Amino acid sequence: MAANYSRKERLAHTFAIGRRGDCQNLKTYLEKKYDGEAILCKNGRSALALALKAYFEPGDGIIVNGFTCYAVYEAIKAAGLKPVFVDISKKDLNFNTRTLPKLDAKSDSSNVQVRGIIIQNTLGNPADIKAIEKFAKEHSLTIIEDLAHCAGSKYSDGREVGTVGVAAALSFGKDKSIDTISGGAVILRKPQKHEIKAPTKLPKLSDHLRARFYPLFGAICRGLTYLHLGGALMRLLVKIHWVEKSADNKLDLDRTLSKFEAKLALKQLQVLKKTGAMPLRNFYLVNNREELLKELAKHGFYFNGFWYEKPVSPERYYKKVHFPEEECQNAVFVAQHIINLPTYYSKQDLEPAKKIIEPFLVKEEK
Ligand SMILES: *Cc1c(COP(=O)(O)O)cnc(C)c1O
Repeated sequence: MAANYSRKERLAHTFAIGRRGDCQNLKTYLEKKYDGEAILCKNGRSALALALKAYFEPGDGIIVNGFTCYAVYEAIKAAGLKPVFVDISKKDLNFNTRTLPKLDAKSDSSNVQVRGIIIQNTLGNPADIKAIEKFAKEHSLTIIEDLAHCAGSKYSDGREVGTVGVAAALSFGKDKSIDTISGGAVILRKPQKHEIKAPTKLPKLSDHLRARFYPLFGAICRGLTYLHLGGALMRLLVKIHWVEKSADNKLDLDRTLSKFEAKLALKQLQVLKKTGAMPLRNFYLVNNREELLKELAKHGFYFNGFWYEKPVSPERYYKKVHFPEEECQNAVFVAQHIINLPTYYSKQDLEPAKKIIEPFLVKEEK
């Protein structure tokens, strides 16, 4: 419910006036920062789809984190690629060289030629980049970086995320590391296999208005929480399509970013550069999650909008993915046990919640 927006930010968002120059300024900033051609997009999944179309052929296999969101799957499908889900580590929610498949084993009956790998840095936890880069080199895989969770973060070797692969896709969607409610951008470096045409049409007016008013609606609903009206109002707003759930934001390769979103995204990128990135969420693996969430709610902590309740979330799209649960057992486990706390609250504010969580924590295995 846009709780990461302060009152000042909410006003600045709702009444922001964007100009064509704002799009050009954002593009110029991204091109300098990431050293490639920047294309502004309707959302992160469209940005990722353009990156995949630029460097792969339809039918190519692409390695993807076994714990991700449906937007990523949608982008892979839109580019005509075949996802190869890889299991994650329970420590950082990323795949690593222990979980990556043995690509040279001829036992792969699926007949998919794997040609690429998407690095996601889940919830802002950096992946083991050195080892993954080596793996990619050995198998001639093209690296794409998905920065939805991690814009501004650094890998352990000091390089910034988005500077390693041939392309970097950014999302400016709700609760992402750059959040203007919707939007995205992709940076493509030479040489691309296929030329990509930058979209030129602006978002539909209805999408524009939804993005503009969401922080305001969120605040109104949050204000009503204690009377249990907020939830009902939010459900109504979703029903009449004044609010759109993040997962339902349509992939569209013909539409670009709203001008006011370009202005706000640039501002956030500049702030991020000064402050450095924090992880997107702090996650815990817990037993009896339902009971814990009830307990937390009793104390005024509403964390049931947690990510992710399935290895590819949200749950209502999960069946479409045909996820290989057998091969990604850590991801299945994590989806059943994860809760995560926003990082935009102060440590002090979250201290009582942490005390409640403590006894529920899953004991670490050796
Ligand atoms: C949300 C998300 C995206 C893209 O999101 P959009 O909603 O299309 O902006 C891409 N990758 C990951 C991992 C995400 O969580």
